Amino acid sequence: MRESMKVCKVCDQPKHEGLQLLYAFICTDCEKEIINTSPEEERYDYYVERLKACSYQKQ
Ligand SMILES: [Zn+2]
Repeated sequence: MRESMKVCKVCDQPKHEGLQLLYAFICTDCEKEIINTSPEEERYDYYVERLKACSYQKQ
């Protein structure tokens, strides 16, 4: 069985497993990172910006 690889919108790496959101695919690694990052951290803004950027592209 061949699984198709999807490119994670956060880390830009092709991954097998992840979360398919409305406009973006997020790999399980980044999903965990986002969950473990608090909104006060700088990284959190980076993730949010990455995801916002893809939703605008697709519209
Ligand atoms: Zn990722």
